[in-house]
Amino acid sequence: MIQNGNAMTVITDGVQEMSECPKCGGTDIAMILWGFPPDSEFLKEEVKKKKIVLGGCIVSKNDPELECNDCGWRY
Ligand SMILES: [Zn+2]
Repeated sequence: MIQNGNAMTVITDGVQEMSECPKCGGTDIAMILWGFPPDSEFLKEEVKKKKIVLGGCIVSKNDPELECNDCGWRY
Protein backbone atom coordinates (compact mmCIF):
# COMPACT_ATOMS: atom_id res chain seq x y z
CA MET A 1 0.00 0.00 0.00
CA ILE A 2 1.48 3.31 -1.12
CA GLN A 3 -0.01 6.65 -0.11
CA ASN A 4 0.75 9.65 -2.25
CA GLY A 5 1.01 12.71 -0.01
CA ASN A 6 2.29 15.07 -2.68
CA ALA A 7 -0.96 15.65 -4.56
CA MET A 8 -2.23 18.38 -2.23
CA THR A 9 1.07 20.23 -2.28
CA VAL A 10 1.02 20.51 -6.04
CA ILE A 11 -2.50 21.98 -6.02
CA THR A 12 -1.80 24.62 -3.35
CA ASP A 13 1.44 25.65 -5.05
CA GLY A 14 -0.51 26.59 -8.18
CA VAL A 15 -2.84 29.05 -6.42
CA GLN A 16 -0.29 31.85 -6.22
CA GLU A 17 0.35 31.60 -9.95
CA MET A 18 -3.24 32.30 -10.88
CA SER A 19 -3.58 35.36 -13.11
CA GLU A 20 -7.10 34.84 -14.40
CA CYS A 21 -10.36 35.46 -12.59
CA PRO A 22 -12.21 32.16 -12.02
CA LYS A 23 -15.52 34.01 -12.20
CA CYS A 24 -15.34 36.27 -15.26
CA GLY A 25 -12.04 35.18 -16.80
CA GLY A 26 -10.58 38.69 -16.58
CA THR A 27 -6.85 39.11 -16.28
CA ASP A 28 -6.91 42.43 -14.39
CA ILE A 29 -6.03 40.90 -11.06
CA ALA A 30 -4.94 42.85 -7.99
CA MET A 31 -3.05 41.46 -5.04
CA ILE A 32 -4.75 42.03 -1.68
CA LEU A 33 -2.34 43.23 0.96
CA TRP A 34 -3.34 42.36 4.52
CA GLY A 35 -1.95 43.79 7.72
CA PHE A 36 -0.35 47.16 8.29
CA PRO A 37 0.17 49.03 5.03
CA PRO A 38 3.68 50.51 5.02
CA ASP A 39 3.72 54.21 4.15
CA SER A 40 5.68 54.04 0.94
CA GLU A 41 5.36 55.84 -2.38
CA PHE A 42 5.80 52.58 -4.27
CA LEU A 43 2.80 51.08 -2.51
CA LYS A 44 0.64 54.13 -3.18
CA GLU A 45 1.47 53.91 -6.86
CA GLU A 46 0.59 50.23 -6.97
CA VAL A 47 -2.74 50.91 -5.25
CA LYS A 48 -3.44 53.71 -7.71
CA LYS A 49 -2.73 51.35 -10.61
CA LYS A 50 -5.01 48.77 -8.97
CA LYS A 51 -2.22 46.26 -8.71
CA ILE A 52 -2.65 46.10 -4.95
CA VAL A 53 -5.79 46.33 -2.82
CA LEU A 54 -5.50 47.09 0.86
CA GLY A 55 -7.52 44.51 2.74
CA GLY A 56 -7.30 45.93 6.24
CA CYS A 57 -5.34 45.44 9.41
CA ILE A 58 -7.10 42.38 10.77
CA VAL A 59 -5.50 39.25 9.36
CA SER A 60 -7.11 35.85 9.54
CA LYS A 61 -6.20 32.52 8.02
CA ASN A 62 -8.88 32.48 5.35
CA ASP A 63 -8.32 35.89 3.81
CA PRO A 64 -8.40 36.00 0.03
CA GLU A 65 -5.14 36.98 -1.65
CA LEU A 66 -6.32 38.24 -5.00
CA GLU A 67 -9.11 40.49 -6.22
CA CYS A 68 -10.50 40.83 -9.72
CA ASN A 69 -10.72 44.47 -10.86
CA ASP A 70 -13.41 43.54 -13.39
CA CYS A 71 -16.04 41.90 -11.19
CA GLY A 72 -14.67 42.35 -7.66
CA TRP A 73 -14.38 38.63 -7.06
CA ARG A 74 -11.96 37.74 -4.26
CA TYR A 75 -10.24 34.44 -3.88
ZN1 LIG B 1 -13.62 38.75 -12.44
